[in-house]
Amino acid sequence: AKRAGRGQYRFFDPSLNRVDMEEFQLEQALGDALRLGQIRLHFQPLVRVGSMSLAGYEALARWQHPQFGLIYPDRFIPIAERSGFILALGREVLRLACRELAQWPPERTLAVNVSPMELGQADFAERVLAELAQQGLDPARLELEITETSVLERQQLAIQQLCRLKAAGVGISLDDFGKGYAGFAHLQALPLTRLKIERSLIAQLSNSHDDSLIVSSTITLAKRLALQVVAEGVETAEQLVYLKLAGCDFAQGYHLGRPMPAEQLAEFEQAFSTM
Ligand code: C2E
Ligand code: CA
Ligand code: CA
Repeated sequence: AKRAGRGQYRFFDPSLNRVDMEEFQLEQALGDALRLGQIRLHFQPLVRVGSMSLAGYEALARWQHPQFGLIYPDRFIPIAERSGFILALGREVLRLACRELAQWPPERTLAVNVSPMELGQADFAERVLAELAQQGLDPARLELEITETSVLERQQLAIQQLCRLKAAGVGISLDDFGKGYAGFAHLQALPLTRLKIERSLIAQLSNSHDDSLIVSSTITLAKRLALQVVAEGVETAEQLVYLKLAGCDFAQGYHLGRPMPAEQLAEFEQAFSTM
């Protein structure tokens, strides 16, 4: 079955196979999800490697579906991106994120993932700043995570918006660094504050000399560009030790804390501070 382009309506096609059928159902249900408040955020801790102190969290979207249960973003973000729902979803995520952040101590930061299509919207930066202002938040407490593909489309507009946000104090992280291809060229073209090293590179750390070299060189390069470095997908104490020696600034991963609903944060912080 052919996929319809962005924002086009699709009608049910009886020749769809099972997977497409499920996708079709999810796409239809996404509109309801937004209207009925079925999108939730989970928060994954971000830790300063040097002092082993908590810096903040990354917001990760979840869809609490009445029949299918908790659906993870790898299932619904691609569908949302193809159907154009990602714009409404992104607004909802930003709203929920800022509302939550406003309830935290002022030293906590929150990172939010941004889809390429959102950055191509001419009013994106303005909306982010308005949302921060509405919640009375210091823009420096928000970090936006973008990917290399974010700026391939409508590059000028995307970079313009990011510049405006960065000038206002919002942090800009390049997510999944090391996964893509054109890597290094983008580092200088984009107004970044942070680099997040893709978790597959971190996963390889202690068992392959090559990847250790790639990770340590990436950290060195980021430092030369005055960028902070985050390692994602840290699953072992060994990886954390390596990252500390290599001068990595922040770490995130199951070893430090899994994504969790807001209700669990107080208990997590309590346990973390006595670790
Ligand atoms: P991401 O931005 O790379 O987020 C990190 C993903 O890795 C999360 O999966 C997280 O649960 C998982 N993870 C964290 N620590 C570990 C670890 O130690 N080991 C392993 N194996 N995995 C770890 P999640 O929550 O399923 O999110 C998947 C992707 O969905 C995210 O990847 C992000 O690209 C996208 N996404 C999530 N929320 C949003 C959102 O609100 N907006 C947009 N546009 N994309 C989102
Ligand atoms: Ca991310
Ligand atoms: Ca990532």
